[in-house]
Amino acid sequence: GNESRQQAIHQITNRTPMDVKEPKALSKIWACDVFNLAKMEEALSKSAYKKIKKTSQTGEPLDPATADVVAAAMKEWATKKGVKFFSHIFYPMTNATAEKHDGFIITTPEGNCITEFTGSLLIKGEPDGSSFPNGSLRMTNAARGYTAWDPTSPAYVMQTDNGATLMIPSVFMSWTGEALDKKIPLLRSNSAMNDAAQKVLKLMGEEEIATLNSSCGAEQEYFLVDANFANSRPDLLLAGRTLFGAPAAKGQEFDDHYFGAIPSRVQVFMQDFEDKLYRLGIPAKTHHNEVAPGQFEIAPYFEAANVAADHQQLLMTVMKMTAKEHGFLCLLHEKPFAGINGSGKHVNWSVGNPTQGNLLDPGKTPNENLNFLLFCGAVIRGVHLYGPLLRAVIASAGNDHRLGANEAPPAILSVYLGDQLEQVYNDIKDGKLEAVAEGGEMDLGLDQILNFTRDPGDRNRTSPFAFTGNRFEFRAVGSAQSVSGPLVAMNTMLADSLNWIAEKLEAALNGGADRNAAVIAVLKELMELHGNAVFGGDGYSDEWHKAAVEERGLKNIPTTADALPAFNSEEVIKLFDSTGVLSPVELASRYEVYSEQYILSIEVEAKLVVEMAKTSIYPAAVSYLASLASTADDLKDMGIDFDKTTAATVASEANAMMAAVAKLSAALEKEDFASTDEHMQFLANDVRGLMDEVRAHADTLEGEVADDMWPLAKYREMLFIK
Ligand code: ADP
Ligand code: MG
Repeated sequence: GNESRQQAIHQITNRTPMDVKEPKALSKIWACDVFNLAKMEEALSKSAYKKIKKTSQTGEPLDPATADVVAAAMKEWATKKGVKFFSHIFYPMTNATAEKHDGFIITTPEGNCITEFTGSLLIKGEPDGSSFPNGSLRMTNAARGYTAWDPTSPAYVMQTDNGATLMIPSVFMSWTGEALDKKIPLLRSNSAMNDAAQKVLKLMGEEEIATLNSSCGAEQEYFLVDANFANSRPDLLLAGRTLFGAPAAKGQEFDDHYFGAIPSRVQVFMQDFEDKLYRLGIPAKTHHNEVAPGQFEIAPYFEAANVAADHQQLLMTVMKMTAKEHGFLCLLHEKPFAGINGSGKHVNWSVGNPTQGNLLDPGKTPNENLNFLLFCGAVIRGVHLYGPLLRAVIASAGNDHRLGANEAPPAILSVYLGDQLEQVYNDIKDGKLEAVAEGGEMDLGLDQILNFTRDPGDRNRTSPFAFTGNRFEFRAVGSAQSVSGPLVAMNTMLADSLNWIAEKLEAALNGGADRNAAVIAVLKELMELHGNAVFGGDGYSDEWHKAAVEERGLKNIPTTADALPAFNSEEVIKLFDSTGVLSPVELASRYEVYSEQYILSIEVEAKLVVEMAKTSIYPAAVSYLASLASTADDLKDMGIDFDKTTAATVASEANAMMAAVAKLSAALEKEDFASTDEHMQFLANDVRGLMDEVRAHADTLEGEVADDMWPLAKYREMLFIK
């Protein structure tokens, strides 16, 4: 029957409203749970502070004596907050975070207890890492991995149901120093990008050049549904999305939810959630309703990429946790509901330093304009050469439902510049800017373009990778994904392109060319080779899908099964190896882990489809048929005609569904795959196809079976009941 569904609705309707917590002044709570530089300055001697400040800004190792002093101050600060445990928090190759808690406590021979936290405990931890995916990286060595403090990301206190814990952001590696996580490649990609950028800027005549870093601002979309529905929907609970469900009579057709008033219960949640973020030093900046009913977005202000990536993981954790406290289930899946917009995570990215500023900002002076053109050109080259890599780093079973489905960017990687900037690059390519380049300064007046491109009215929402005035916005990233993969890919492709540019520029300058002329010549060559990646039209259109592939030679990569093999391609292996970001074995381990995750998630979903179809949906259809049959019998006795159409439809749909279930079960038995690639293809095509087939019949049944017999919460209930 549908007791659990009814129960859910009953619970929701009779819910006592959540207490609204009194809003706190930002100045009172901002970063109060973070052991940041300001707190260290208070707690440490001048000389110790100077050392830790340098370490936290550059990642340089700390001497053991200072590490002890810092650890002691950190413990002191944390214990005052009632903290008894600490944990290195790290970012394994899954999209999750991992932690292992240790107490500060030690006992003395006299039976007393004291607390201890030394520099070496701060700096290094040894979790039993054997349960984390390592993609064969640790099979050859001892099974253990170890964590090491990343001083460029501040420690903080996390308050949970289990009490408060001091969290220490860390890297996770094997004994032989191989990266087992998502943080090490990100740090390495920053430094590869810095090395290459330094070369280009030097050649551009810049004298003082501070270390460059990448920045990231991530816009997070998510759904909230009442937690009570999870009881009647094992798919929501275990797969994070609905595997069945007919569209509601009212969907998002009216677009009345976008930027609409935020439902009050959600508002209470948001305020609580954002206060928690502020305490953790996460600069929550904007929030609003999204396109779909029940869908929302939060975007923190941008930060250094490494910190932003840690904060993004923390944000997802805090969001899920807070939602639970408010009786919501927070869905980060890319496509929780069929037929309704999915969720993405726009990753806004730029690179810069304190001396030259943001290199993706055209700037106001002619020289800044030239620097900008080179860096932006480097991105164009990167997207063109490494489009398949950009597609691979956003590949997941969840994101496959979204990409290319006319609601999110297509599965073809191109770059959008805006009309004016595209014109500038085309003029360079066509040789129209040559004359201006001879001698003196060349003012391209790019700050005009900047103002224009920043205008949101001009944004191209159909592009997966768009220039938005002073940064690029990678719009194809999935809502559940870590931002690290995309950031690593972007930094690394930029490093590669800047190295290429530096080489060309140096040759031209050594050959006696004028700097302006040399820059334009390099960009002309770059555009001739890679201009095909620039596209300003409608990315959703059929014409583009055809032209991109046939005329431009770009790749359309629809599924994760098609995308992940890019990690094994020669260009990508060389890219990561030459920049020092990932060795070939480290890269191979990524392919192994990500493909395994893809395989597992499709298999879990497929098994759930079989189970739910057999044990919930089929019985509902049978009960309804039984009641129709007994009614027909009774009416027959009374000599009244009874139409058999509905019974016939329900019977044939139920039969057809079970036939598809049988095929799906058989498909799940298959084991003899020649390669991982082949296994993924089988899941992407055959298994997903059969899952859709089962669903189509089940969704038809939902429209036929009596409402009070339907076991699963319906779309209209999950999306509209708040
Ligand atoms: P929109 O929805 O118009 O794209 P939002 O304001 O929701 O814009 O989000 C834009 C994101 O980009 C924010 O996180 C913002 O802080 C970030 N951002 C702004 N400037 C930069 C920059 N130079 N580098 C990286 N991120 C940036
Ligand atoms: Mg955006």
